[in-house]
Amino acid sequence: MKTYKIALIKGDGIGPEIIDEAVKVLDAVASCSDFDFSYEEALMGGCAYDMTGDPLPQETINISLNSDAVLFGAIGGTKWDNLPREKRPESGLLRFRKELGVYANLRPAVVYDELVNASSLKPEIVRGVDLMVVRELIGGIYFGEPKGRDENKGWNTMVYTRPEIERIAHQAFKIAMTRSKRVCSIDKANVLDVSQLWRDIVTEVAKEYPEVELSHMYVDNAAMQLIRDPKQFDVMLTGNIFGDILSDEASMLSGSIGLLPSASVGAKIGVYEPIHGSAPDIAGQGIANPIATIASASMMLRYALGEIDAADKIDAAIKRALSEGYRTKDLAQFDAKEVCSTSEMGSIIANYAAKCKH
Ligand code: NAD
Repeated sequence: MKTYKIALIKGDGIGPEIIDEAVKVLDAVASCSDFDFSYEEALMGGCAYDMTGDPLPQETINISLNSDAVLFGAIGGTKWDNLPREKRPESGLLRFRKELGVYANLRPAVVYDELVNASSLKPEIVRGVDLMVVRELIGGIYFGEPKGRDENKGWNTMVYTRPEIERIAHQAFKIAMTRSKRVCSIDKANVLDVSQLWRDIVTEVAKEYPEVELSHMYVDNAAMQLIRDPKQFDVMLTGNIFGDILSDEASMLSGSIGLLPSASVGAKIGVYEPIHGSAPDIAGQGIANPIATIASASMMLRYALGEIDAADKIDAAIKRALSEGYRTKDLAQFDAKEVCSTSEMGSIIANYAAKCKH
């Protein structure tokens, strides 16, 4: 039997509560598969600072690099907001992504039929939305040099190199091959030289994936089209800053931040995590929605471990729990038949995932 080594970083706030539920679901699918998991916990964020004086201890990097994948909860909280920047939980997370070289952020936005009313857009616009933003994560204007400011001027540099564009483009095309084989690359090539390079290289890479249909769209139009007709998109390929903005916009299509998973992947180990933060306002109350984290565990099975069947089982179990009317408090007003706690929702999904023949 194959044993996958998973690094668990629970973090702060609701992090421990939601990771426990994802582990419950992973163990449930493993119980009816030919693999299992061994977990090793590692510290990051405020809890790591409290115990070691560092929000990202070296041991956490070592444990992560020595695993098959990292399942991550969330970090941060007001308790640590006044620390010097490099000691803050969020700095630990940025450093962690850099250390692991995770250059691609994958953010699916799926609208569950049962929750079309939870979106701020009309049901007919969002019903059936199933798209994936593939965002470059460790380059572009957030990292480009030179950057700086004086009293009267501030400046940053948007720079991409050929290898950076090629590797993120390959990610997008490979993912499109597992979906409906369409990539829309987002840029601002009408104004920015860096975007014209992006467009040219993405077009070159596309030749290696003749089955995938490539289109290009300017970012301002993409922001509008996402709201006007989100179903036109399958894979959206973007640079760092455009993806930051568009993926948040896309996440609102689904209605609750507690539903959306993400993956950050690169050449080595991938990090699988919900898109939300540590939600200190609801921590410890047993009301956090664990679905985003459980869906992140499903992405881990699909993209890191190649256990597609098990990932499908989890996705089907989430859908079933929602279609049978189970809701955590954040979604209680949307056709709930039963409002359940974090742990009850985890158990319901685990139970379905262990049985699901999708
Ligand atoms: P947040 O995502 O933690 O919370 C925003 C709102 O959404 C809150 O009202 C919260 O209760 C709610 N919410 C979030 N997740 C939920 C869930 N699973 N179920 C139900 N409701 C949920 O964002 P914030 O309040 O801006 O940030 C809180 C802390 O988290 C900050 O310290 C911030 O830096 C940190 N943060 C961490 C990450 C990360 O670890 N990747 C990401 C974003 C923010």
